[in-house]
Amino acid sequence: PADNAYAYPLLIKRLLMSGQRYERSREIVYRDRLRFDYRELNRRVARLAHVLTAAGVKAGDTVAVMDWDSHRYLECMFAIPMIGAVVHTINVRLSPEQILYTMNHAEDRFVLVNSDFAPLYQAIAGQLTTVEKTLLLTDDDGANCELPDCVGEYERLLAAAPSEYDFPDFDEDSVATTFYTTGTTGDPKGVYFTHRQLVLHTLAAAVTVGCRENPTLMSSGDVYMPITPMFHVHAWGLPYVATMMGLKQVYPGRYDPELLIELWRREQVTFSHCVPTIVQMLLNAKAAQGVDFKGWKITIGGSALTRGLYEAARGCGMQLIAAYGMSETCPLISGAHLNDELLQASDDEQVTYRLKAGVPVVLVDAAIQAPDGSFLPADGSSQGELVLRAPWLTQGYAGNPQKSEELWAGGWLHTGDVATLDEMGNIDIRDRIKDVIKTGGEWISSLSLEGLISRHDAVRDVAVVGVSDERWGERPFALLVLCPGQALDARGLQAFLEPAVEQGHINKWAIPRQIAVVEDIPKTSVGKLDKKRIRVDIARWLEE
Ligand code: ADP
Repeated sequence: PADNAYAYPLLIKRLLMSGQRYERSREIVYRDRLRFDYRELNRRVARLAHVLTAAGVKAGDTVAVMDWDSHRYLECMFAIPMIGAVVHTINVRLSPEQILYTMNHAEDRFVLVNSDFAPLYQAIAGQLTTVEKTLLLTDDDGANCELPDCVGEYERLLAAAPSEYDFPDFDEDSVATTFYTTGTTGDPKGVYFTHRQLVLHTLAAAVTVGCRENPTLMSSGDVYMPITPMFHVHAWGLPYVATMMGLKQVYPGRYDPELLIELWRREQVTFSHCVPTIVQMLLNAKAAQGVDFKGWKITIGGSALTRGLYEAARGCGMQLIAAYGMSETCPLISGAHLNDELLQASDDEQVTYRLKAGVPVVLVDAAIQAPDGSFLPADGSSQGELVLRAPWLTQGYAGNPQKSEELWAGGWLHTGDVATLDEMGNIDIRDRIKDVIKTGGEWISSLSLEGLISRHDAVRDVAVVGVSDERWGERPFALLVLCPGQALDARGLQAFLEPAVEQGHINKWAIPRQIAVVEDIPKTSVGKLDKKRIRVDIARWLEE
């Protein structure tokens, strides 16, 4: 309209066009199966849009994807929202019951299913209440794969569709993506993001600096390979950033450490991002032994980056740096940032700052609140709940007004994380509120204990949780995975932690008197320490 001629909706389609403008001949690579350039990416997204609209998908519909990380997933992240529909990225590692719950709750009308998940899909299909049609995704010909109400196989359908599509303009506040939190407590909760939110998130991520020789995120010459599943907060939204910047992108399918390393080498990957567990898995892989990973920058989020893991990775040439966010926040909130002052500091101090959640990125407001809702000073020591404001935080949990109200109490998004803020603006996550160990009136951060213990040479992986104790309320219990051929007992761990008590890093109640050495520590569907299950397991052992 003439009175609003300057209005220019912030739509995801603009990000796609940008990549082609900068680097039309750079490639999108899918394992050793497929590679094509940005011109072809634009054509394939147009073809997918035709396939979906021909199958009856309309603006406002929810279209779900069940796939490993692939070029197809990237194409869905564009084509589905670009026709005004909502892409639901299904967490394929949830239980079938939880997947069923999320699909009915999101009211999925159309589902794209990888042949690997066809048996799972068939098992729940009878209980899906809103799905009308399916579409088959497969790396082979999918000949033996049956899906109910299937409109056809992805590559064949794309090949037959026109390669141009006139993507319409519409309201930038239309929802573009939705997915479910991992549901460590109760049913998974749905969060959702609009076009405007994703565009602003993408722009903010693209200008996040981090550190001069090791940016937190990407720069124009990087080769990008996500190792955060695309169902986990749409791979942290970073495929949108890589596409906007026109970076070469590598999609590894199902995570197999040997293949990830092979792709890193062959495609000359320089930037990835993942949870700590994945780095651990890479370092332990056969193909990693003796390899110098120089030039591979990996941003770590989703869980704290411990010094132990940082040092182990540095020893192999990988440069790790931390960032912070959550499903509810799209996710990017902050990233480790080494400013000019810190670049003059000792190596030890620089590392300390690389491990922190870091400085809020542009347009993010962060504050610390006491339980009564009052704001605490940014003095580096006052601890409280981290609360946030930013243009890309979820408006609430879909269909759950009560939880949405709690999330947004007082006009700030409540993270459920205990943190401090310092005068330089650094966020330091101390723990999740529900994981803090309360012992004899003191609060112990399970995260900082895990950080300290991770520095012991014998320790490969560690989780600390509180177990109830008649006298003290709770006491810390440490679960350890040791490096091959190493031994460590409770006494040895105590001796290792004594100096930290003497130096005032922890109080003496924080030293775990009870430990258990295990083969593996339970992890969640996205590879984080599963403290809920760990507590149950420990309670069971203690009873025995
Ligand atoms: P879930 O809560 O199911 O694990 P999310 O992926 O949304 O799902 O997790 C977000 C949480 O992960 C944060 O609230 C915080 O507790 C933790 N987290 C994320 N990044 C960091 C970090 N850099 N340091 C410490 N904790 C982190």
